[in-house]
Amino acid sequence: EKMVYFYGGGIAEGSAKMKNLLGGKGANLAEMARLGLPVPAGFTITTEVCDYYWKHDRKFPETLEAEVDKAMKKLEEVSGKKFGDKDNPLLVSVRSGAAVSMPGMMDTILNLGLNDETVEALAKNTGNPRFAYDAYRRFMQMFGDVALGIPHHDFEEALNKVKEEKGVKLDIELEAEDFKKVVELYKEIYRKAGKEFPQDPKKQLWIAIEAVFGSWMNERAIKYRAINGIKEGELLGTAVNVVMMVFGNMGEDSGTGVCFTRDPNTGEKVKYGEYLPNAQGEDVVAGIRTPYPLEKLNEMMPDVYKQLTEIMDKLELHYKDMQDIEFTVEKGKLYFLQTRTGKRTAKAAVKIAVDLVKEGLIDKATAVMRVAPDQIDKLLHPAFDEEEIKKAQEIGEGLPASPGAATGKVVFSADDAEKLAKEGTPVILVRPETSPEDVGGMNAAEGILTATGGMTSHAAVVARGMGKPAIVGAGEIVIDEEAKEFEARGVKVKEGDWISIDGTTGKVYLGKVKTIKPKGLEGEVAELLEFADEIRVLGVRANADIPRDATVARNFGAEGIGLCRTEHMFFEGDRIQKMRRMIVSKTVEQREAALEELLPLQKEDFKGLFEAMEGFPVTIRLLDPPLHEFLPNDEEQMKELAPQLGVSVEELKEIVENLHEFNPMMGHRGVRLAITYPEIAVMQTKAIILAAIEMVKEGKKVKPEIMIPLVGTVKELEYLDKIVRETADKLIEEAGVDLEYKVGTMIEVPRGAVTADEIAKVAEFFSFGTNDLTQMTLGFSRDDYGKYINDYIEKGIYEKDPFKHVDQTGVGRMVKIAKDYGRSVNPELKLGVCGEHGGDPESIEFFHKTQLDYVSCSPYRVPIARLAAAQAAV
Ligand code: ADP
Ligand code: MG
Ligand code: MG
Repeated sequence: EKMVYFYGGGIAEGSAKMKNLLGGKGANLAEMARLGLPVPAGFTITTEVCDYYWKHDRKFPETLEAEVDKAMKKLEEVSGKKFGDKDNPLLVSVRSGAAVSMPGMMDTILNLGLNDETVEALAKNTGNPRFAYDAYRRFMQMFGDVALGIPHHDFEEALNKVKEEKGVKLDIELEAEDFKKVVELYKEIYRKAGKEFPQDPKKQLWIAIEAVFGSWMNERAIKYRAINGIKEGELLGTAVNVVMMVFGNMGEDSGTGVCFTRDPNTGEKVKYGEYLPNAQGEDVVAGIRTPYPLEKLNEMMPDVYKQLTEIMDKLELHYKDMQDIEFTVEKGKLYFLQTRTGKRTAKAAVKIAVDLVKEGLIDKATAVMRVAPDQIDKLLHPAFDEEEIKKAQEIGEGLPASPGAATGKVVFSADDAEKLAKEGTPVILVRPETSPEDVGGMNAAEGILTATGGMTSHAAVVARGMGKPAIVGAGEIVIDEEAKEFEARGVKVKEGDWISIDGTTGKVYLGKVKTIKPKGLEGEVAELLEFADEIRVLGVRANADIPRDATVARNFGAEGIGLCRTEHMFFEGDRIQKMRRMIVSKTVEQREAALEELLPLQKEDFKGLFEAMEGFPVTIRLLDPPLHEFLPNDEEQMKELAPQLGVSVEELKEIVENLHEFNPMMGHRGVRLAITYPEIAVMQTKAIILAAIEMVKEGKKVKPEIMIPLVGTVKELEYLDKIVRETADKLIEEAGVDLEYKVGTMIEVPRGAVTADEIAKVAEFFSFGTNDLTQMTLGFSRDDYGKYINDYIEKGIYEKDPFKHVDQTGVGRMVKIAKDYGRSVNPELKLGVCGEHGGDPESIEFFHKTQLDYVSCSPYRVPIARLAAAQAAV
């Protein structure tokens, strides 16, 4: 099995297709070499070696060393230099890179191959001893920190000591002799740490290779994988890239930068990036120096800029997606060090996908797959309340690194962020800059604010990926980490104080500011969802109880209402009193009289829903919850209420006690209520049909669907079906209009599911109430399962929360059985889902595969469901 893939000198053994084997970085370096682009030569050790290493007690395959030696030879040939040579030494970088880009892994080691001898050669050959010794001490520092675990801080201290002694502040003020001193101090640091700095380049290389493979299992990498839902064993491991060094720090005709082929924030088709003259790559990424916009390169070296932009276009055309590119200029010569699919904001993801379709680069199905459903969710997420933000005190401004508004209490460490967030406190993580150790805290925070760094600094990149609002490089903010406070524009902000940040504008505000959700879909989002609509097979409806929600849903593209919970209407205004009067009725006549008062109100509600849905079907569920939910249970309230309801306090108490149930979830509710009190079903049917008749008379289209909840046997449904139809047909006949309606049932009781062939003879549609179906199939109470579900997930008994993602093996099978049985007797049977799962992309995929007709979800999730349904169909 081949373990090392070489590229350079006009050949490339790997290609972009080999991401799993070579990691993203290695595969794309090979691909760029294939395209004939200027890439420093190098080789990649495969992810399979990483896998082997961890499965064999940290040993390498026997023949690996020989393969690496051979690749090194080739690299020497191509570069014309020799590894460890004291006249013309080859220097390399050692870089990690898995199939999925993972900021949690090992940092890159640059300038490997330097030692006391080769540094002299580098000095002589470049005619620049200062550069050579700076490179050497940088290598010693990175190697010590990254490969041997010597604290970074120790090296910084030594460097600062030399600066202090010389009375200077900046690195650039140091000279060759100073860096020589630094090198000696660094050697001392190695010794104190009980390590030897290896002079042998080959030893350096192997220690670095092992460090990369070792980093696969470090805490931060494991955490990163966990946060990003990458399962154990899903990836083989990381690859190791050994790449010939090129130097961006050889003077003003050298430099380094990062660029994007489109703006990763807005998605605009403009070249975007940052450039830092006379610097090595890690200076930009670490956010230590704040770089210039890319145009700086155009000013300094227009020819190089032109070549860069031409190749940017070429790369985008080749990969058919926005690219994030790292490049270095060494003495006027351009090199590409990395290209990958660029991380982008939700907004940019949508715009780029839609634009690429318009530009003819990708088709609609590809575009739809390019945007994750939860990115659409983010787009519909908070911005500040405009009125409130006008009044808020602005205390600083930085770079708008990741859009969205966030408000929370200030914390200064990732640990504190995680701690407070766990307690439910919203926090804003404020740091000088962030590093991979902070990822957990960033994930826990509502938003992130840093004092230094640019748009491609760690904080910016990670926050964008997470969809967290972030501001970086807010230089006005002076942080005192010890004292846990910062000062900005003369205001002192302490740990625990509220601040608000707007990642879209880059502005920081004092205090808590209300955030609001945007209203509708427009522009590219709407276009992308239209693509989705063309592709998807599954219908998308909304769960909405009142006209206002129905309108929101309709604007989000809902094709009907899959669930209207009529009980919610009874809580509005003084209706609850009428409802209560109905409940305390002693005779059918009394009850009917009370219902008579509710009828016109319900009728108006339904008419509003029909109006909002513009002729799309509206499924209305007859009263579902147990009646005690409408009555108070404390003494005081009962005393107040009894006279209003025309009963004595004692009578009311007795009624409440009678209604009390040990297990209300399995109590007197759903169809059972209608079995006892058919007059309730009659009233609701009347309200629905009368509303529909009015619509018809106004010349409008209407499709009412009356849904009976909690059916377990066909006999329940038969009983109700008869009542509903008799009531409805009589009204329709009297009105002399043409009106079609459907009567169907929820499938949420397991008995209903397994006798679906009987039920489907009566029902015209099934709507799977997967919340109750999950509850009753698993026997997990929806109200209490939170106490133990995490134990189940941790122990791998259920993989996921079954109320969030449908349990496909159990509940899913129940759905499938009901579908098969139901359609076997009634091929026309309409099938939908109205539980929470109707808005969950993973569950939606399952419902698509199960060939249901539609899902129904909360109005704000309709766009997500449209996209997820399309993705399921691609
Ligand atoms: P990351 O995955 O964190 O981006 P990289 O391996 O890409 O890490 O390296 C970090 C920085 O070091 C990048 O800016 C890159 O351009 C620079 N770098 C890596 N290898 C070389 C090399 N051979 N010559 C010059 N710069 C390099
Ligand atoms: Mg990189
Ligand atoms: Mg239910």
